[in-house]
Amino acid sequence: HNYTRKEIMELVEDEDVGFIRLQFTDIYGTMKNMAVTVSQLKKAMDNKCMFDASPIRDFPGAGESDLYLYPDLNTFEIFPWRPQQGKVARLICDIHCSDGTPCESDPRQVLKKVLSEAAEMGYTMKAGPECEFFLFHTDEDGLPTTLTHEQGGYFDVGPLDFGENARRDMVLTLEEMGFVIESSYHENAPAQHEIDFQFDEALTTADNIMTFRMVVKTIAKRHGLHATFMPKPRTETAGSGMHLNLSLHRDGKNIFRDDSDKNGISREAYYFMGGLLKHMQAITCITNPTVNSYKRLVPGFEAPVYRGWSASTRSPLLRIPPVRGEHARIELRSPDSSANPYLALAVLLSAGLDGIRGQILPPEGIDKNIQAMTDAERSALQIEKLPANLGEAVRELEQDSYIQAALGKKLASDIIAARKQEYKEYCLQVTDWEIANYLYKV
Ligand code: GLN
Ligand code: MG
Ligand code: MG
Ligand code: MG
Repeated sequence: HNYTRKEIMELVEDEDVGFIRLQFTDIYGTMKNMAVTVSQLKKAMDNKCMFDASPIRDFPGAGESDLYLYPDLNTFEIFPWRPQQGKVARLICDIHCSDGTPCESDPRQVLKKVLSEAAEMGYTMKAGPECEFFLFHTDEDGLPTTLTHEQGGYFDVGPLDFGENARRDMVLTLEEMGFVIESSYHENAPAQHEIDFQFDEALTTADNIMTFRMVVKTIAKRHGLHATFMPKPRTETAGSGMHLNLSLHRDGKNIFRDDSDKNGISREAYYFMGGLLKHMQAITCITNPTVNSYKRLVPGFEAPVYRGWSASTRSPLLRIPPVRGEHARIELRSPDSSANPYLALAVLLSAGLDGIRGQILPPEGIDKNIQAMTDAERSALQIEKLPANLGEAVRELEQDSYIQAALGKKLASDIIAARKQEYKEYCLQVTDWEIANYLYKV
């Protein structure tokens, strides 16, 4: 969409919109919003809506807590699940300080900053996510559980697939909001699902991922279910990933495409992978930012564990899907949905640009299943592991000043401090596993 102020006013009038939610995302990836009525719409579009940011974790810039919401008119969308009289719409906003400068803790502007660096080099980035999630039962108080009676697996159909009605409703709702849904299906684990929507410009995709999570959770709740994007809710079954498909474009052309290459991708695409692999350890702290993220990155569940790329196997960290021509792309398979999509795309693009500037070639691609190799085979090929836990990932981010700069100093140091603290708290917990294994025996 490319809306003018006038068009927004007309839409609001014609559609009988009563409320407008002014949305943004905090640095930890949680959507926030403030609602205004139509009486305030002009003021909102003049960038005059102010809010107190101090209760939002690590948000306000430099001791200042009054921030301004600058709505992006192109993000206007009506919520189809809300009442159809006095409808509810939303506008996604950028956050600015009272002097008009961008707020350095606004993840959307962190992504915009990296996108403008790419634009100076002549590039735009497109991204397409593959979001997986679970649909669990709620208990008699309506609280989420990790329980399901379902036994469905990959691509199963109803009545084995208990989630088909909820998923159908999610897809139709997303389509009403302008999403192009490419596929939706039951995933590997019982109660696990995937819905894939069409790739788009990176900023739009990040906005779409936030909207997608809200829609999936909202519709699940209407079906009496709890949708969770938690990376690894159950020990025994696969976790949920958010694979990201990436490509760079110039003058409307996909510059990752090279039909003469054996994998169908260009020099720039290889350099981009080289940059990703160079910074992957630090990036993982952003793409896999929770304690639970690392319970997913273990062998045996189609999630990556080692750093490598392949055009022929399915579970490496980086994959070149077997598509040729304009859809040539690289797929990064480590990210999960606990990531802030703006920050994840920002650090990925920034690392890729570093690879292009420095003409960093990745090591040789690997045609064997890395997870099936022995340690000796892996070390002969110099295949290293991704960080094994959040503690390791934070230390990697602390050592990568390039990725810190891409995030901005304050935001990077806030994330490092918060994730360190989170990991420390986690390590102090005495877990059920320890009780089960040691209480009797020791
Ligand atoms: N659920 C797997 C993961 O954790 C991915 C499965 C798949 O889509 N091939 O990444
Ligand atoms: Mg997929
Ligand atoms: Mg999948
Ligand atoms: Mg995939």
